[in-house]
Amino acid sequence: MRMWMVDPRLMCRKHLLGEHVEIHMLVGTLQRRKTISGFIQRGLLQPEAIYLRHDALVDEMTARGYRHRSPLDSVCMDYLPPAERAGTVNPAVALADLQGRCPDCAKLADGQDSSF
Ligand SMILES: [Zn+2]
Ligand SMILES: [Zn+2]
Repeated sequence: MRMWMVDPRLMCRKHLLGEHVEIHMLVGTLQRRKTISGFIQRGLLQPEAIYLRHDALVDEMTARGYRHRSPLDSVCMDYLPPAERAGTVNPAVALADLQGRCPDCAKLADGQDSSF
């Protein structure tokens, strides 16, 4: 699971929809009160931003005409250690990683492809 936390407009269809699915997975994980320590340690998740991030992704999905059918369940994160609840993603690092591994996302950043 990974929250990219980059501008959703800079994400290709695959990564936009992928992060959205992973946020729903993350909420499921938290509802089962599982540990997310490994993800936090690698800077891949930002628990306190789940709902704002979900809204931002859904706004961009809607703008592109993708469908969103599944409301995000609310979840209690009180069981997480405070340091994990406060985990953050570095958006600049994430953006460089995303653009390095995905030519479609990289193209959006260059403004070469406005077909999305
Ligand atoms: Zn959703
Ligand atoms: Zn991509």
